[in-house]
Amino acid sequence: MVDCHVGKNMFLIKKPKKIDLKIYNRGVNSPQNFYGLPKKILFCKQCTYTNQKPNSEQEYKHNINKKKPTLKIQADEICSACKIQEKKKNIDWDKRKKLLEKLCDKYRKKNGEFDCIVPGSGGKDSFYAALKLKEEYGMNPLTVTASPHLYTDWGRKNFYSWLGSGFSNYLFTPNIKVQRLLTRLSLEKLLHPFQPFIMGQMYFPPKIASQLGINLIFYGENPSEYGNKSSENEVPTKNINYFTTKNHKNIFISGLKISDLEKKFKLSKNDLYPYLPLKRKEIGKKLNVQYLGFYIPWHPQECYYYASQKGGFEVSPERNVGTYSKYASLDDKMDDLHWYTTFIKFGIGRATYDSSQEIRNKEITKEEGLNLVKKYDGEYPARFEKEIFEYLTISQDDYGDISKLFEKNKMDRNYFNSLCDQFRSPHIWYKENNKWKIRK
Ligand SMILES: [Zn+2]
Repeated sequence: MVDCHVGKNMFLIKKPKKIDLKIYNRGVNSPQNFYGLPKKILFCKQCTYTNQKPNSEQEYKHNINKKKPTLKIQADEICSACKIQEKKKNIDWDKRKKLLEKLCDKYRKKNGEFDCIVPGSGGKDSFYAALKLKEEYGMNPLTVTASPHLYTDWGRKNFYSWLGSGFSNYLFTPNIKVQRLLTRLSLEKLLHPFQPFIMGQMYFPPKIASQLGINLIFYGENPSEYGNKSSENEVPTKNINYFTTKNHKNIFISGLKISDLEKKFKLSKNDLYPYLPLKRKEIGKKLNVQYLGFYIPWHPQECYYYASQKGGFEVSPERNVGTYSKYASLDDKMDDLHWYTTFIKFGIGRATYDSSQEIRNKEITKEEGLNLVKKYDGEYPARFEKEIFEYLTISQDDYGDISKLFEKNKMDRNYFNSLCDQFRSPHIWYKENNKWKIRK
């Protein structure tokens, strides 16, 4: 345990500092850009994305000094996600479907053993993927899940409906005390309350696949459909660099080095295990990680219809905070806080994500999308605030001396807001009449 007598200046996690408001003047010349975000903000002329949208990356390398990879918008002012959507029109989907049949033929187990893994939470996409593979391709999927932080009632119900529609599941629930601490640290260091969970969620499926000797994993759509490098869309497989490393040197979790988490926060190897990528030698050469979206045109609203008709998937009974939609990312209460933090860091909230995808799928027009963004993006996540802040409070009762490493261990709205202010990039935000406003 950590020494009790933590001196006044010894806090490892200090309260947010007072920010220098001068850099947030409306008229400031060439305002500073944080995290290496593109200084010039570009807008896609077809959807609601900007070039500030972060792409998914090798999370284990992520710390505050690392430049964030972002969405590309070329001279024609069309973002890479919209371009991929255009390209999808020219794909010979019958041919792709045959490729999928061939792939399934290679892995399908005639004796009824599990032959593939479908990771997910029982959201519309994983629901759809598992059902589709089982019913239309005769596969025997094992579903695997990394537990959310705080289930919503409807998320838990959908999870059980998913399994109720005919699937077995491996659910991994990490040590909740550790997950709370890492989530708090990730909020402090990266303003990214979802990062430890994302890591757990990304590494668990290949871990269980390796242990059980199941050599095929199916994810849903390729992240390039949302702006990751378009070259990733040319292949059906997931790059193993996302979930494996040569060794565990230079790995960051919650923006902190593993050695710091071990020494300073007294986390053990098994505490950290869920958040560590696999070592390359641990995965068999045979492991094949595929995106179903390469073979089947991925259409989120269709996934929803399919999952609700065939398996009883239900939308959230209320509009999700920060957006107008009810059917996407709804199983974790922490989602609300997560999308709010993307709005603070990148000027891009949940309504931007939802609307840009729906514009590309021709469900709404760009004008409707922009109005929805204006109306809902950046809505304060009040509905589960109390529970989320309790989760993020590192109290002395729960954590003993570890709580003393925080100058203020309690999380509340004031603290959270001042933390957010630390992460506002001046090229996105200005402050006027005591109110934060987006520059563009
Ligand atoms: Zn676009």
